[in-house]
Amino acid sequence: MSEGKKTKFVTTGRNKEWTQGAVNPPVQRASSIIFDSVSAKNHATINRAGKTLFYGRRGTNTHFAFQEAMTDIEGGAGCALYPCGTAAITNAILSFVSSGDHILMVDTCYEPTRDFCEKIMKKMGVETTYYDPMIGKEIESLIQPNTKILFTESPGSITMEVQDIPTLSRIAHAHDIIVILDNTWAAGVNFSPFEHGVDISVQAATKYIVGHSDVMLGTAVANEKCWDQLREQSYLMGQCVSPDDAYLGLRGIRTLDVRLRQHAQSSLKIARWLAERPEVDHVRHPALETCPGHTYFQRDFTGGNGLFSFVLKTSHPRATTALLDHMQHFSMGYSWGGFESLILANEPKSFDALRTVAHPHFTGTLIRIHIGLEDTDDLIADLEAGFQRYQAVLDSLSDE
Ligand SMILES: *Cc1c(COP(=O)(O)O)cnc(C)c1O
Repeated sequence: MSEGKKTKFVTTGRNKEWTQGAVNPPVQRASSIIFDSVSAKNHATINRAGKTLFYGRRGTNTHFAFQEAMTDIEGGAGCALYPCGTAAITNAILSFVSSGDHILMVDTCYEPTRDFCEKIMKKMGVETTYYDPMIGKEIESLIQPNTKILFTESPGSITMEVQDIPTLSRIAHAHDIIVILDNTWAAGVNFSPFEHGVDISVQAATKYIVGHSDVMLGTAVANEKCWDQLREQSYLMGQCVSPDDAYLGLRGIRTLDVRLRQHAQSSLKIARWLAERPEVDHVRHPALETCPGHTYFQRDFTGGNGLFSFVLKTSHPRATTALLDHMQHFSMGYSWGGFESLILANEPKSFDALRTVAHPHFTGTLIRIHIGLEDTDDLIADLEAGFQRYQAVLDSLSDE
């Protein structure tokens, strides 16, 4: 019997085999798994890659439950677990490249993804070409005979460009190139990677999957074509997570869909309020027309979340500092995807180090916010007070 999408978040990963009759699976801690007989040991050895207790590094029932749930949600053939999102990204890449290969990397990738290419891939003889997130079918001109991976992230980190994943995937596949997507923003829920041509969908489960800002966790769900290689190569690189963290990832899934819908509703309201502010040049929220790639968002995504950016008309670090200091509900902090609101600023100059081809076309300060589950009225009041502090600094400067 097929299930509705909401029902799936409740039922997935709850086989009796994993739960032992409780609602949730127990946290099963194990390094050694012990066998009653030679034949039981042989059975486990033969089936060690397929959710069978074998040795702790291959996972326990707690891990199997979480992996099954992730695969159910995203739609692939299997899910590998990593101690953080960055490990998921680097292992997904490492599992498929050899010395002499070439990677096409979106210019708006998460900063450590770029650093990995520059500081580790390069010294192993793997070259990276960065491409504009809005390149579309022109990607073909950047493909080399040795191109192995097309890496995408949509929307892009900080500047939020939504990519045309189906077009990019179609062209990549025509050249036998593997498509990897950093699917953290959609949380595996609001963008179906495999229906849009992706081969491996990576997530910082640290963000919305866990959802409570208290666990580091990474996942990579692969299609049939890539699953065996991803699983075995990641295993060889020693990638595994604690059962407690897998448990918390699975628990996050139970409320993932409702949390995302609330984050999305609140963030859209605040994005629209920001768009009307005199201090704001434009808002980069995928659900608004002023976000690059908005039409792809409308075409390919089924919902949003709490993370977006807006650009101020001016760049004045002292005024920005006045805005950011003394916020009541927005905390300054890296990461996002928890229940709480966050805020960070990027002066336009900071993009010099973060971009090589898609340099931003704006000149004001970019502010990235994560809208948590607080009342939107409280958050708007907080931003309004911040804008007053910001304007006060600008006014005092024009008096000088
Ligand atoms: C946070 C983040 C990561 C890295 O995840 P960690 O768990 O912090 O290593 C990767 N990609 C995106 C888009 C992120 O926001």
